[in-house]
Amino acid sequence: MMTPLTEQQINELRVNLLSLQVEFTALLEGATKGAETVSLDQPIGRLSRMDAMQQQSMAQANTRIARQRLAQIRAALTRYDQDEYGLCVDCGEDIGFGRLKARPESPFCLECQKQRE
Ligand SMILES: [Zn+2]
Repeated sequence: MMTPLTEQQINELRVNLLSLQVEFTALLEGATKGAETVSLDQPIGRLSRMDAMQQQSMAQANTRIARQRLAQIRAALTRYDQDEYGLCVDCGEDIGFGRLKARPESPFCLECQKQRE
């Protein structure tokens, strides 16, 4: 059994969530701009076409991950507004401060997360 979060811990995690939200929003805006400027039809100097394509698909994968994380961050902030933050969305148990400190947007407790992997 995890100890329920104190009000102070919840506030601390909410600050973390808000700064993550800012960080990932900026990151995604940057990524979108970057994707627009990389055109594979343009002469790209020393960088081979293959490298450019590889970089682009890596950038796309990173964008996908960042988008998913931002969605989880937003969902966690919504749970905060509904006074449900810190509880596993699956089993309803406390997720625990240590886990949330490492990943404040975690929707699941460790046990439920394990079952999903
Ligand atoms: Zn759970």
